[in-house]
Amino acid sequence: MNTNIQQSTLPKKTLAQEHNIDEQKICKHAKRVVNTLTNKGYQAYLVGGCVRDLLLNITPKDFDIATNATPEEVRSLFDRSRIIGRRFQIVHVYYGREFLEVSTFRAQVSNSASSPNTQFNNGQITRDNTFGTIDEDALRRDFSINALYYDLAESAVLDFCSGMDAVKNRYLRMIGDPVTRYREDPVRMLRAMRFRAKLGLEIEEDTAAPIAECTHLLNDISSARLFDETIKLFHSGHAVNCFHELKHYGLFQQLFPMTDKELGHDPQLQDFIVGALSSTDTRINIGKSVNPAFIFAVLLWRSFQHAVTKRTHNGKISPESLWDAGRNTIFRQASHTTIPKRFAITICEIWKFQSRFERIRGRQIPDFIAHPRFRAAYDFMCLRSLLGEVTQAEADWWTDIQKCDAEEKQLMIEQRPEPKREPKSKSRASKNNQKNIKSE
Ligand code: ATP
Ligand code: MG
Repeated sequence: MNTNIQQSTLPKKTLAQEHNIDEQKICKHAKRVVNTLTNKGYQAYLVGGCVRDLLLNITPKDFDIATNATPEEVRSLFDRSRIIGRRFQIVHVYYGREFLEVSTFRAQVSNSASSPNTQFNNGQITRDNTFGTIDEDALRRDFSINALYYDLAESAVLDFCSGMDAVKNRYLRMIGDPVTRYREDPVRMLRAMRFRAKLGLEIEEDTAAPIAECTHLLNDISSARLFDETIKLFHSGHAVNCFHELKHYGLFQQLFPMTDKELGHDPQLQDFIVGALSSTDTRINIGKSVNPAFIFAVLLWRSFQHAVTKRTHNGKISPESLWDAGRNTIFRQASHTTIPKRFAITICEIWKFQSRFERIRGRQIPDFIAHPRFRAAYDFMCLRSLLGEVTQAEADWWTDIQKCDAEEKQLMIEQRPEPKREPKSKSRASKNNQKNIKSE
């Protein structure tokens, strides 16, 4: 057993009259899964983020269930279910197109103890399938607020790790020794950022202090998992806060080293990124769809512009070289966070379209507006005014033309002013930017 983790076997029980959980907010399928398991004599509880969110009076986005039934036993009880995962086996129980995650109680196995079902690599848990008891299961969870169990039969919260105190006093505390736990799974640092940003919790000093010296551990995490975590951070509805937390703790540098370097000598870039994240937050919070490509296009814009400059000769760049600049930028980022192909294409299109806003004239304009990627490219172009690359008048022209009828549209197109000549006094940096966006 890991000696850094304090054992506690009996939970502190909080009964219905002492907590504020509104059971109406619990998804009926989750109730059904718990009842099926308990009717068969197994233990089954709601666990993790859903209990935390219910206590914080937030409607949970998903419900997880923990049980002492093995994955095979769970699988045999639900027709529409399947076992997934190798590193960490769980059962998905389907209801329509939605599913619930049912996990079997697991024991925390230390790096030095041997277990055929738990594997380590340099302190990192690469496989975690040693089953255990509920109290052991609580101790291998990440933060105390995420280690609370809800017993539906008794309407009681079971607390093995002082999670109720953390919820009440709104702090984030790693269970066990933080450094060991970050080594086991460095993604816990990113999770800390997300919970801090989303729930406004203080990160307790012992949990926060080692992060600075552990950031490099993220290098050992697959770029695919880091892509998923990045999306969770930036699509949490609290992306601006997440960005500031990631920057503050030195984690942003691990995820986006090229962007971080640019931020060091380009103060306007931060406004551009925060502007984009803020509009993503607004869209998420009013239930509008968001495409991960947009935020990646924003974060990698400067790197793309440099790649374009390198391929520009006598102020011109060929369409092939422009695509190559996009591909190269995405390739360099992909060693940190994968960028799936479908998003990579959209990112390149958003970038490529930027030059059109300035240059396009006449009958091509209606086709351009009708293009499926126009909206994202237009939003991106408007944000570029924060970089001083687009004037307010230019952005307004494109806003207005989308609102007017066919006749007015025609008039606007006819009266569209010619692209502005650069005033001689423009700074060199600004000239370079102009050159980049003119190219196609
Ligand atoms: P949310 O779903 O709101 O993002 P969550 O806490 O529910 O937050 P999930 O990824 O759904 O996050 O995980 C469910 C639970 O599994 C967590 O509450 C936590 O108890 C446990 N867990 C998830 N990831 C880890 C991890 N990396 N290390 C330890 N425990 C984890
Ligand atoms: Mg969850």
